[in-house]
Amino acid sequence: MSSFDDTDAFEGASLAARAMAARPARYLDELNPEQRRAAETLDGPVLMLAGAGTGKTKALTTRIVHLLNTGRARPNEILAVTFTNKAAREMRERVARLMGQTVEGMPWLGTFHSICVKLLRRHAELVDLKSNFTILDTDDQLRLLKQLVQASGIDDKRWPARQLAGIIDHWKNRAWTPDNLPASEGSAYEGKGPALYRQYQTRLRELNAVDFGDLLLHVVTIFQKHDDVLRQYQRWFRYILVDEYQDTNVAQYLWLRLLAGGHKNICCVGDDDQSIYGWRGAEVGNILRFEKDFPGAAVIRLEQNYRSTPHILAAASGVIAGNRDRLGKELWTATKEGEKVRLIGHWDGEEEARWIGEEIDAMQRGTRGMRPFSLDEIAILVRASHQMRAFEDRFLTIGLPYRVIGGPRFYERMEIRDAMAYFRLVVSPADDLAFERIVNTPKRGLGDKAVQTIQRTARDNGLSLVDGAGLGIRSGAIKGKGAVELARLLDGLARWGRMMDDPSVSHMELAEIILDESGYTGMWQADKTPEAPGRLENLKELVKALEGFENLQGFLEHVALIMENESDEAGEKVTLMTLHAAKGLEFPAVFLPGWEDGLFPSQRSMDESGQKGLEEERRLAYVGITRAEEVCTISFAGNRRVYGQWQSQMPSRFIDELPPDHVEVLTPPGLYGGRVAAPSGIETRAAEANVYNSPGWRRLQSRGNERPLSQPREARAPVIDIQAVSAHTVGERVFHQKFGYGAIIAIEGDKLEIAFDKAGTKKVVARFITGADDVPF
Ligand code: ATP
Ligand code: MG
Repeated sequence: MSSFDDTDAFEGASLAARAMAARPARYLDELNPEQRRAAETLDGPVLMLAGAGTGKTKALTTRIVHLLNTGRARPNEILAVTFTNKAAREMRERVARLMGQTVEGMPWLGTFHSICVKLLRRHAELVDLKSNFTILDTDDQLRLLKQLVQASGIDDKRWPARQLAGIIDHWKNRAWTPDNLPASEGSAYEGKGPALYRQYQTRLRELNAVDFGDLLLHVVTIFQKHDDVLRQYQRWFRYILVDEYQDTNVAQYLWLRLLAGGHKNICCVGDDDQSIYGWRGAEVGNILRFEKDFPGAAVIRLEQNYRSTPHILAAASGVIAGNRDRLGKELWTATKEGEKVRLIGHWDGEEEARWIGEEIDAMQRGTRGMRPFSLDEIAILVRASHQMRAFEDRFLTIGLPYRVIGGPRFYERMEIRDAMAYFRLVVSPADDLAFERIVNTPKRGLGDKAVQTIQRTARDNGLSLVDGAGLGIRSGAIKGKGAVELARLLDGLARWGRMMDDPSVSHMELAEIILDESGYTGMWQADKTPEAPGRLENLKELVKALEGFENLQGFLEHVALIMENESDEAGEKVTLMTLHAAKGLEFPAVFLPGWEDGLFPSQRSMDESGQKGLEEERRLAYVGITRAEEVCTISFAGNRRVYGQWQSQMPSRFIDELPPDHVEVLTPPGLYGGRVAAPSGIETRAAEANVYNSPGWRRLQSRGNERPLSQPREARAPVIDIQAVSAHTVGERVFHQKFGYGAIIAIEGDKLEIAFDKAGTKKVVARFITGADDVPF
């Protein structure tokens, strides 16, 4: 298509720009007619409501390209919101590919949070902040709340600060400030919620800090109170695009409605069946209300799925059909039949991880009757991040390269948090939380009392802790060795602060100087615990990570925002991530482990939200299955250690909702004696799973650190009540090193309840118990 008409508006543009705009728009040929309508209907509101893998994101991306290519908007005039940083990056890459050039300067393509940080830095003073404000992480937020809770005389054991954090987060997601909090919320947190919320916000302002919820809330407040600012952005963002619209919360929704209020050039895409953030305040109603909010909106529905095979699609559709609360959509695909969804039961979580490791090896070699897969094509999607540990351990053991996305993060490690607190304090000296974290780390002889003196001095004089500390030294309130060390720290902070403006010192050098001169590196060098070398490595890694940033502040902002932790090492890797983080992504082969009731669907979600919670879990199952293009493998374990306790597990109810015609049950020969209970009607096939012949297995053997798999193992059926295999029996006399003799009165997993002759009734872990007759004295 050539687009001369569209370029008329750009009479004054350079010849090159006009010629660019007049090029044939090949990228539109890649779309089906409905997608094309979404990409070409540029003026006015557009809603694309369609199932997984129907090309919503593709159409949205093409729409950006079309806006740029037809000269409707410059890159910096397009506001494009995605859900994760990874999705934003992918969209940027896709735009670049379709444009046939790199797209510099789409500064407003990102997540709600990343866009709001930028907006808030520009207008911080309108909400009484300075533009160098700090973004608190959960840990800091909790510490701050705890202080407030304790100060208000609430028993924080009965009413944990974490709970208050949840309540405040909920309010912020609904765009409720302390000023417009509805009366119905008055009873929250023992009736003290609203007052504590107000104190918390005041305290944050004093600290020149915000939490995550504030990023949006403050910007919404600015837009609501300052019409001139809002209008400026309404004009600036000529086109607004939003992916994963079904997961926006009220605050995000208000934000979008305010920004689109002028021209109404807003295009939202989403799928009600993939709304999985209800627990964080997302309102699937937003997407259903779109046509009311934006009358005359073009509504586009897509039905062809381009991602998955018919079996995978049918399995996903079968599961989601169990939800009552949905619009209901038909999906079809023209792809070839392919593999059925594979289902396999395991003895326990470790076995599951072991099998998946071996299976990945086999798939790499193409010995499963399928084409060979590269590691980059394979993902393991878990319901709960604690499930990852078993896979990480396993993969490390067999040397299978993997990356964790969104998992336990590098930046959450203690030494990294300490180092970052130093950086934060240098960038923003009013950051009292950072000060509290490091004032006596390394030890400076400043105990609780000295810190309290600093806090009191600061509070009484309306100063930050840094300034309060200075005053405390000068006034003699802090004396002795502590005072000398503290003065040294304050000098350091001032000096490092000045170095930020010194062009001859790079921010990486500065980071090293801070860590060295503060004594922090030295502290770990002197530490003789086995963890110390690893921590020093991490600190080195941290300084390395600074490289890509202009300054410390940019880096701190980045860390506060990242939701993903990807390792940069080259080479193929298996991806390990949560189902939530996998939204919008696709992989040729997907493993979905841990399909057990209580784990998935999650017990907490069902307890807290009943039927609604269950339906959200089911949507999560739908998201999981629809990530797979060619092969989808679902598994469960009969036993699992959850938070240190063994539990026997029942297969997930979602497994019974899988349509039997599209599923085959794998029974690894020899491992379980084929005794996997298949849901009725599902075909079973023994996998030719010769795991012992795989490269992973051979790597293992050569290390000699594993029990040989080739020795016959007990044939065990999964879903066994662990009591049946416990080495102990109720009534048995036993001996415990600490508590002495007693009799078992109950067995619960690997925990035994024992009535000790002298020590009373106690629960103890079975492996600390010996039979009374085995005691050698
Ligand atoms: P989700 O709901 O999971 O976010 P989606 O609707 O956003 O999915 P996309 O990720 O845009 O779907 O597309 C799914 C896959 O289908 C991608 O690999 C994409 O390149 C491909 N695809 C989309 N539209 C077409 C098309 N018209 N022709 C060929 N392939 C397409
Ligand atoms: Mg998408």
